Amino acid sequence: MKEIYTLADLKNWKKSARHPVRLGVVGDPVAHSLSPQMQDAALAHCRVDIRYGRFHILPNELAEAIRLLAKLEFTGLNLTLPHKIAAPALMEELDDDAKRIRAINTIKFEDNKMRGFNTDAPAFSRAVREEFSVDLRDLRVMILGAGGAARAIALQCAKENCERLVIANGTFEKGKLLVEKLRDFFQGPKVFSPMPRLQAIRWEENAFRFQIANIDLIVNATPVGLRGGDPSPLAARLLAPHLMIYDTIYSGERTPFVSAALEAGARAANGLSMLLHQGALAFEIWFEREAPLEKMRAAIRPPQRSSSPAKTS
Ligand code: NAP
Repeated sequence: MKEIYTLADLKNWKKSARHPVRLGVVGDPVAHSLSPQMQDAALAHCRVDIRYGRFHILPNELAEAIRLLAKLEFTGLNLTLPHKIAAPALMEELDDDAKRIRAINTIKFEDNKMRGFNTDAPAFSRAVREEFSVDLRDLRVMILGAGGAARAIALQCAKENCERLVIANGTFEKGKLLVEKLRDFFQGPKVFSPMPRLQAIRWEENAFRFQIANIDLIVNATPVGLRGGDPSPLAARLLAPHLMIYDTIYSGERTPFVSAALEAGARAANGLSMLLHQGALAFEIWFEREAPLEKMRAAIRPPQRSSSPAKTS
């Protein structure tokens, strides 16, 4: 199978009779995605005779690519960076979460309709419970970013009535806009604290320093750390041992943020658990049957080292 398809490939698509590609992840970049190996394992286990591909599609190609994929009778798609926010406008139906935050990561093509879903939100909650044995409702959470993934994570924190929610984004206005969308979830104090339950902060060292003592969980929902040589989105000197760090990035067991957290004595996990759960929930939307979670987990599990492995959580 070709490793990565482009818009040009879609325009000249040759339908293969055996194991045709009928699902895929659409992104820019997309080479790092582990979704194909995870979904192909699920498809093989469930004896569904189709495959899952990778589609490198630029932002200005998204509408045409989705239209072509629908015409080619694909079952569905996953969307990753940077398409989650542009895609809802192309859908005919959206689930309730997607409607509120205008971000989707899953598409189902059915009865000549394009339907958009957001499985990142519930997947994040399951991932945090699995990694740290805690529930979002007990946590003071700070999210780095206000893009597609951050919106889903923020919505889930709000729906589960977390103690506090702080959004830090480079473009401050976008962080403020996200906070306003979630305001009605945060009426009234939950526990006594002089800090606001919901706020947007600027991406500045002083602003981070001021927050850390009143935060339990920091989530990286930016692409910082995705490319080799990237720094940690927050330096180790800004972190503290009481923190839990969840990096939605999963390229490499120790992402720069996970390394910085461990250096600061904090607990940390990379985004593999969120990838697993968003993928399992997408599989259930496409096929209306339970996803083979453990088969999918095994397909993305990092190889075990022979010497004692470094724990990230
Ligand atoms: P997106 O919609 O493009 O949003 C990107 C966000 O990151 C924006 O808020 C942007 O801030 C911020 N950002 C970009 N470059 C930055 C930099 N150099 N410094 C600080 N902030 C920066 O992307 P997305 O779809 O939300 O994806 C974000 C990340 O989440 C990706 O790395 C993706 O792989 C990961 N993710 C993982 C999973 C999983 O299952 N593990 C699921 C979803 C997403 P501005 O607003 O200022 O531009």
